Amino acid sequence: MESIKGKRIGLLGGTFDPVHFGHLAAAKAVSEALHLDTVIFIPAYQPPHKYHFSLSPFPKRSAMLELALSSWPRFHISLVEAERNGPSFTCDTLEDFCKKITNDTRLFFITGIDAFKEIHTWKKYQKLLQFSDLVVIARPPHEEKSLGLYIEKYFANHLYDQEKDAWISQTERGAIHLVSMSPVAISSTEIRKRIDLGEGVEDMLPDDVADYIKKKGLYKSKIPNTSFLISKGIK
Ligand code: ATP
Ligand code: MG
Repeated sequence: MESIKGKRIGLLGGTFDPVHFGHLAAAKAVSEALHLDTVIFIPAYQPPHKYHFSLSPFPKRSAMLELALSSWPRFHISLVEAERNGPSFTCDTLEDFCKKITNDTRLFFITGIDAFKEIHTWKKYQKLLQFSDLVVIARPPHEEKSLGLYIEKYFANHLYDQEKDAWISQTERGAIHLVSMSPVAISSTEIRKRIDLGEGVEDMLPDDVADYIKKKGLYKSKIPNTSFLISKGIK
């Protein structure tokens, strides 16, 4: 793994298929709210929760990320999950990062509310807080108000501390933070769908990424559209 600079480091995991303005806005909002020195985007090599057959190959997803991050000097990419091979479990990734940092460095693993509310299904999810703080970022239409109940249920040792504006625990190192941001209603699923239908996605992701997608013919379904044959009475 590449060397890590900075004392407060955000980590944003995802499939990034493709990366979009929602990811960049989330990284920026968390950076500002928690005074992070840098955010490292970590593309999942083999996401355990997603259907592999429909996922774009890792080199293409990471190439798009590189293009998107090139104009953000404090945002970087880590290929650690590809280097490790096999299914990409976040607890392993955070452990790898922990080995690379000094004691005065603090890690903040960032997820949208949608991903956070599934965290109890992740491998050794409670271990995550031994390695890192967790940061939950608002993502419409997922509700923020039920977050407290979710934390109570799955992170019972963490209690909300008003002064620190975070859920903290006496026994575990990491805290859980909630960061709000102006909603960015963009998802990779929506982008893939729009491209397949031939609709524009210009406002949803950086131009370089849109050009790359076009050049590589990504997200166009392989099944030929035969509806025009039906309308002509050929089929
Ligand atoms: P897909 O639709 O394929 O699941 P996605 O848009 O959800 O893609 P991911 O790569 O799954 O993107 O997301 C990586 C992380 O970024 C997750 O924690 C997710 O919650 C967060 N995220 C993605 N889009 C947004 C957004 N618009 N606002 C806030 N957080 C987001
Ligand atoms: Mg997602």
